[in-house]
Amino acid sequence: MLRAGIVGLPNVGKSTLFNALVANAKAQAANFPFCTIEPNTGVVAVPDERLQVLANISESAEIVPARVEFVDIAGLVQGASKGEGLGNQFLANIREVDAIVHVVRCFDDDDIIHVSGSVDPVRDIEVINLELGLADLGQLERRIERVRKQARTSKEAQAELAALEKISAVLNEGKSARQVTLTEEEEVLIKPLGLLTRKPVIYAANVSEDDLASGNDWVAQVKAIAAQEQAQVVIVSAQVEAELIELPESDRQEFLDSLGVSEGGLKSLIRATYELLGLRTYFTTGPKETRAWTIRAGMLAPQAAGVIHSDFERGFIRAETVAYQDLVTAGSMNAAKEKGLVRSEGKDYVVKEGDVLLFRFNV
Ligand code: GDP
Repeated sequence: MLRAGIVGLPNVGKSTLFNALVANAKAQAANFPFCTIEPNTGVVAVPDERLQVLANISESAEIVPARVEFVDIAGLVQGASKGEGLGNQFLANIREVDAIVHVVRCFDDDDIIHVSGSVDPVRDIEVINLELGLADLGQLERRIERVRKQARTSKEAQAELAALEKISAVLNEGKSARQVTLTEEEEVLIKPLGLLTRKPVIYAANVSEDDLASGNDWVAQVKAIAAQEQAQVVIVSAQVEAELIELPESDRQEFLDSLGVSEGGLKSLIRATYELLGLRTYFTTGPKETRAWTIRAGMLAPQAAGVIHSDFERGFIRAETVAYQDLVTAGSMNAAKEKGLVRSEGKDYVVKEGDVLLFRFNV
């Protein structure tokens, strides 16, 4: 399962956002398996409107969405790379995530103290990115020292050393490891380091409720930084999301309407996090359940089947395949078959986003 770590300076709204994520997941718990692994970790459903449409077609008893795990990673402060705050413990937590959600304070509120005295997203992002970069540099230097010895006798160590030095040079310019182009081989060699500034990032611009619809100057500044890093920005209001949970279901729409938005940003954030890693969804659907399965782009049909169960991959014969839109247009699986829209695909088939699949396999 994809794990995303929520980072940001203290008092920017991380916990508020995380609690809203978890509360939403709990509210939907009747419909899908929910679990809290640790107090700061929650598993949430990836919103996908196609699930309900398919469930209606198949008259499914249950809907099972794709899931993403969020980890609230507190303790990142100026000096964390030197052991300030939670320091190393924080860094160990964050090395294990696949993606980073960087929450940036874009709301004004005199009652909420800003650790640096004023709201300034550009400075805040620099503080966090500098800490992450310094932590990576420390990690790289230790590794370089070790690999340099091995490089005298090992080709692989030489290749790794070259990659490490390439990244180290870029970090020393104050840039992130994301900005380094690596070969596939180099990528594999450096993966165990879990470099923080190489993880894909989304900036979550946390705004007040009045700015949710239109954004503000601070959001524009965050967008400018993100554009340089080819990162995405999602506008959220942690406070709106927190207030929504408190409201009875019937009043929520009215509240959102009064703000001129369709949601508080949480759904977009989850969706964007899921898409950040180039993940794809295929579906299985029937009277028992309609379910979303997560695969990586380019996966072949047997591997996709293996996501459900390793037996499906081992005994794979064929996959009856229909594109989501074709099935919806036809109105039912039988109608889609009659129109010749359901194809029988073999083991070389690359599964596409939104495919609805039924696997035939030997046990
Ligand atoms: P964290 O330290 O980043 O986890 O920040 P918290 O989520 O604990 O939030 C710090 C304070 O800011 C809390 O009192 C929140 O209620 C408040 N807060 C969070 N988001 C917003 C927001 O969008 N607007 C306003 N005005 N306050 C917020």
